[in-house]
Amino acid sequence: MVSPLHNSGQAELRDDKVIAPFGELAIKPDIRPDLLFRLSARLQTTLDLSQLLEIFCKEIQHSVLIDGLSYRVRDRDIHISMGRSSTHSVTYDLNTRNDRIGELSFYRASRFREYELANLEGLLSTLVYPLRNALHYREALDASFRDPLTGAGNRVALDRTLDREVELAHRHEMALSILMLDLDHFKNINDRYGHHTGDQVLRETVGAITDSIRQTDICFRYGGEEFLILLSNANQDDALVVAERIRRAVALVSVSYLDQVIHPAASIGCASLTFTDSRQSLVHRADLALYTAKGLGRNRVVGEAILVSCPVEQSELDAMENNTTEPDVQAN
Ligand code: GH3
Ligand code: MG
Ligand code: MG
Repeated sequence: MVSPLHNSGQAELRDDKVIAPFGELAIKPDIRPDLLFRLSARLQTTLDLSQLLEIFCKEIQHSVLIDGLSYRVRDRDIHISMGRSSTHSVTYDLNTRNDRIGELSFYRASRFREYELANLEGLLSTLVYPLRNALHYREALDASFRDPLTGAGNRVALDRTLDREVELAHRHEMALSILMLDLDHFKNINDRYGHHTGDQVLRETVGAITDSIRQTDICFRYGGEEFLILLSNANQDDALVVAERIRRAVALVSVSYLDQVIHPAASIGCASLTFTDSRQSLVHRADLALYTAKGLGRNRVVGEAILVSCPVEQSELDAMENNTTEPDVQAN
C-alpha cells in the first residue's frame, strides 16, 4: 500500500490496484506499459537498498522528473538520500499487508501536478515488493554479523571491520584506538544468580557501552564476557576518556535477582594504533593493558602509557591476582 503522508499525492495503491479516494474523479496513472515492465524488471536485479533506489530514481525520470529522493525507515536507522532536495516535496508511507517499509520522499524545484503524482504512485507500486525484499535481505545480513544475545557485533564482523579500519587509518594517517573490556568476576554472577541473570547482565552491559560511545564507534563481543570497542579517529587520550566513561556506565548497570541488585564491574585495557601495527598487534597490546588492569585490582582503565612507564612484573601480577573487587550486590 502506498499512502501519501504530506501534501499533494491523492491516490492510494493497495498491492497493484489503484484505490482512488475521490472515486472516479481521481486522476489515474498514465504510464506506458513498456516503461512499467522495464522498471519492474530492473528492480528485480538487486537486493541492495541503495542500488534499488538508484535504479528507481533513474528509471522514473522517463515519466516524472524529480530532483532527488530520500528514503527513511525510522525504527531501523536507515536513511538513504540521492540527488538533491528542493522546495517541493511529496512523501509516501510505504506498507505491504505485513510490513511497514518506510517513507519515501520525492523532491523537485517546481510543484508536482496531479497527473504527475498519479504517475508517481503508479510507479511506486512496482517498488514496494522489491523494497520489502531488500529490507529483509539487509535484516538477514545484519543478523549474521551480530551476537544474538547482546546485539553487539560478532567475531566475523569484528575481523572484517578491524582489518578495514586499521588499513584506512594507516592510509589516511588517522588515529584509531581500541578498548578491550572484560567483566570482573563474571563467573561469580553466574554461579550465584544463574546463567539467565548472567545473560541479562551481558545485555545490559552492551546497552551501557553503546550509550557511552559515538554512533561511529562499534562494540563487538570478543568472547564470553569480553568486548572490544573500536574507536575510530580517537588517540590514546580520547580513548582513555571514553574508556573511563564506559567503566562508570557499566558500574551503574543494575540487574535484579529476587530481592538483590547486581552491579557488574569492568576492567578495560586501551591501545592506540602505531605506524607499525597490524590488527593482531593492536589487539595484543589492548589485551596486555586489560591483563594489567586485572592485575592492578580490576574495575579500572589501563592505557599504554602505564605499560610503557611502569611495566608490571609477572610475579607482581600473580600476587595482585588475588586483589579482587567482587561484583557489588545490594539487598533491597
Ligand atoms: P575475571 O575478573 O578474571 O575476568 O573473572 P571472570 O569470572 O569474569 O572470568 P572467567 O573467565 O573465570 O569466567 C568467565 C565466565 O563467563 C565463565 C563463563 O561461564 C561465563 N560466560 C561466558 N559466556 C557467557 C554467556 O553467554 N552467558 C553467561 N551467562 N555467562 C557466560
Ligand atoms: Mg571476566
Ligand atoms: Mg574473560
